[in-house]
Amino acid sequence: MKCIFCDNNESKVVDSRYLKDGSIRRRRECLVCGKRFTTYETVEHNPMVVTNVDNVREPFKQSKLRDSIIYATYCTDLTDDDIDTIVNNIETNLFRLQKQEISTRDIVSVALDVLMEFNTMACLVYYTQHTDCDNFDGVRRFINR
Ligand SMILES: [Zn+2]
Repeated sequence: MKCIFCDNNESKVVDSRYLKDGSIRRRRECLVCGKRFTTYETVEHNPMVVTNVDNVREPFKQSKLRDSIIYATYCTDLTDDDIDTIVNNIETNLFRLQKQEISTRDIVSVALDVLMEFNTMACLVYYTQHTDCDNFDGVRRFINR
């Protein structure tokens, strides 16, 4: 990061603070002139593209994911806040895959992991809705994994 006072490239971070929007504010001190300046770091989110089973590509839609989670949690006591957290966690984990294109299988796999932490019943409902497993053997294998 270039010093705004002397154009030198070397600086050290003297303070970092996480902001509410997820960005980081850093106070830096120039190693040459010793003056301090502030930088902000944010993550650049490229829009994710989803490839479905028929190889049709479409932009990732959070609303679609949310609908499927609401459906899966219908018979549970999870609150709207829980659902928000679940949807956000799934989206974050999908971003962490760092793929240009994610498949619907990626989404299902990540969603199952996240749901498992919150509610087994919701996880099971989601599993039966989103996999082609329509027999109890598959469900039992899934529960025991
Ligand atoms: Zn400087």
